[in-house]
Amino acid sequence: MKIFVVNCGSSSFKFQLINMESSAILCSGLVERISAATGNLTYKQHPGTKNSRELEEERAFANHSEGIIRVMELLTDETYGVMKNLDEISACGHRGVMGAEKFTKPTIVEAGMLKTLKSLSILAPLHNPPTIQGMEIMNEMLPCPSVAVFDTEFHSTMPEHTYKYAIPEKMYDEFGIRRYGFHGTSHRYVSEQAADFMGKDRDKVNLITCHLGNGSSVTAVQDGRCVDTSMGLTPLSGVVMGTRSGDIDPAIYPFLARQTKNNIEEIDAMLNAESGLKGICSMNDMRDIHSARAHGDPKAELAFQMFCYSIRKYIGAYFAVLDRVDSIVFTGGIGENDDIARSSICAGLSGLGIEIDAQKNSIRSPESRSIATEQATVDTMIIPTNEELAIATATMNTLKVA
Ligand code: AMP
Repeated sequence: MKIFVVNCGSSSFKFQLINMESSAILCSGLVERISAATGNLTYKQHPGTKNSRELEEERAFANHSEGIIRVMELLTDETYGVMKNLDEISACGHRGVMGAEKFTKPTIVEAGMLKTLKSLSILAPLHNPPTIQGMEIMNEMLPCPSVAVFDTEFHSTMPEHTYKYAIPEKMYDEFGIRRYGFHGTSHRYVSEQAADFMGKDRDKVNLITCHLGNGSSVTAVQDGRCVDTSMGLTPLSGVVMGTRSGDIDPAIYPFLARQTKNNIEEIDAMLNAESGLKGICSMNDMRDIHSARAHGDPKAELAFQMFCYSIRKYIGAYFAVLDRVDSIVFTGGIGENDDIARSSICAGLSGLGIEIDAQKNSIRSPESRSIATEQATVDTMIIPTNEELAIATATMNTLKVA
């Protein structure tokens, strides 16, 4: 069974074609800078194997549909193709960002579902429209069914006292303003993998999962279910991120509007794209920040400390939320690869039973692993995330029972 996974962002999309029998990636890639004068397509056939061929194209893609049409051509291309006919694809899995309270499990994409999803675009104006476009074009082009797997699903088990904001109830009733959370597919995937790794039942494990990448979020998992998460109505809240501020005093927003005379869009863009690590040290890639720190750059050091501190604070808060913590789980580009960040985040947490082994922490590996010391009473693990495989698996399981 071959499943094509599409992950649409606001001006880009990632894709993978996965052979579900072997979990092998048949092809993968990325289309970026959609609707800019020049866009980029990167396509890898059989990535990671010796037969792999790669293609880079620079050309304009007016919208997500144009990009998807080009990728579909490549799938059956004489040189770069991985199949004779598109009908070899059994199903398509779409990453949905915002399912709100309407989609709390993977859902088959059809006209009624798309209508409901369109009505949610007000909650994710940058992400839902391109995702919907991706779903529509795939349904047009492929005879197979499509399934949407939402980032918000895993967080839909949060109790009311967690997901509500303490603002007038009519804001929830009228506009659906509440905490929805993001990165849910990743948090669910690493939670399940962590339980398997520990030999525990997936519905009996208590975890604090830290998805740390350019966007970052921390989730409290009780008995395998999300009970709290750091992102909220939007992905702006929570820990310090690459370019997003994370939690700030909400009164900063009107203060800035009055003082700078900037409009709502300008302030929103500043908080989302010019803040976080970038706002403090003008860099948002952690590798650049580490090399600047190594050269004594005080701003890079400050940004790094702020990042680690904000995550440590959430870990502490979620200890108070959970009745027991089996493990801290690190994932995402930083969580999986950055031993300096992991060690700094966990420094001083031995009072909570968290202690990481410096030698285990320094080993680079694509495998799931524990990095805790023998004495630690709470495990610390690195679990590489695989959102595409998680979406493909959820797609397959949904169609099996449909
Ligand atoms: P993601 O958004 O999950 O793809 O993560 C992207 C971020 O991971 C990049 O911006 C880097 O800051 C970080 N990253 C990736 N590899 C490394 C590494 N080897 N060391 C430190 N940070 C890394």
